[in-house]
Amino acid sequence: MVRKLDIIATRGVVSGIEVAVADAFCDTQQLIDLQEGRVGGMIYRRRGFPALRPAETKIAELEHTESAILFCSGMAAVSTTLSALVRVGEHLILTDEGNVTIRGYFTKVLPSFGIEVTTVPINDLVNLKNYIKENTVLFFSELPTNPFLRVINLEQLADAAREKGIITVIDATFASPLNIQPIDYGLDLVLHSATKYLGGHHDLSAGTVAGKEELISRIREQRNLLGTNIAPFDYFLLARSLQTFSLTMNLRNKTALEIAEYLEQHPKVKAVWYPGCRSHPDYELAKKQMSGYGGVITFELKANGEETSRFVDTLTIPYLAHNFGGCTSTIEQHALFTHYDQREEAQKRGLGSNLLRYSVGFEDVGEIKRDFEQAFKAF
Ligand code: PLP
Repeated sequence: MVRKLDIIATRGVVSGIEVAVADAFCDTQQLIDLQEGRVGGMIYRRRGFPALRPAETKIAELEHTESAILFCSGMAAVSTTLSALVRVGEHLILTDEGNVTIRGYFTKVLPSFGIEVTTVPINDLVNLKNYIKENTVLFFSELPTNPFLRVINLEQLADAAREKGIITVIDATFASPLNIQPIDYGLDLVLHSATKYLGGHHDLSAGTVAGKEELISRIREQRNLLGTNIAPFDYFLLARSLQTFSLTMNLRNKTALEIAEYLEQHPKVKAVWYPGCRSHPDYELAKKQMSGYGGVITFELKANGEETSRFVDTLTIPYLAHNFGGCTSTIEQHALFTHYDQREEAQKRGLGSNLLRYSVGFEDVGEIKRDFEQAFKAF
């Protein structure tokens, strides 16, 4: 009977999927060696597993920082980070434009735990210092924001935060780590829903946070307590995607800019929001801070809600789907997806039923334009 186990390292050119939730030890000495850091391994998967390191190291490199950690979703990255860094009675600042789930978490869940939240209009960020109170500990914003892809001034933010001693967290999901490195501006943490560009295939759910080890170690400890770690199969897919991430992101930047410029000049398009276009309110800032502008274009048709739906239904290339950053293009009419239950409130915030989000995949640009042309005839 074999009782003592050898840990066999594979020599494959790609790593496999490690599904074990616990390591078995040859003897108690091997366990003590692990506890004292003399050998690698894991005791229990929820408490973290070493197989994650290659992708975490790669993401830290992309972000120009010391450490990065992975989670089972972008929301797990957001909630675990805040749970590690904020306490009851403390105050947070959030910019007023962004993902509907993040807004819900900040404005409903956190206040129910005794955490105070102020939402700052994105156009008033120059006055950020006026919103900072005695008990303010953290600032959070997307960059670019959803859905109008607004770009905030990172130098100005870093100055205000440094003076007041608050932690800055940038959710750069819409930029990806290829196009901007907020850490270079002196900000503390950068976060992504890796379900989008980093995953890149519409087939995995993951999140990541990167920054100095001093802060990341606090978040890692919280992640290992809460059990918000990435799952092995998603990790396998993410590690695969990271190998082609720069190539795919460069292609998305190029395709999206071309499509945005095409939409801008179309007579049936009322407005386009893409930070790489001169017409975008933050074009100059985007040009200064970003090396590419991402694969998502927001645009408004000269149409009502029904006509907009007809246009969407006539398109043959993009999937009518909520995610972005996959291999196939997607299109989303906000009013019918994330804002279906709050259409009136969304309308007041400029998210009318004629507002669309197009996320480019890897289809040929000419074919995408031809597809748009035939769909524009639908109204
Ligand atoms: N941050 C941004 C900017 C997002 O768009 C999303 C999801 O759409 C999230 C975070 C949450 O990520 P996930 O869906 O992976 O939990």
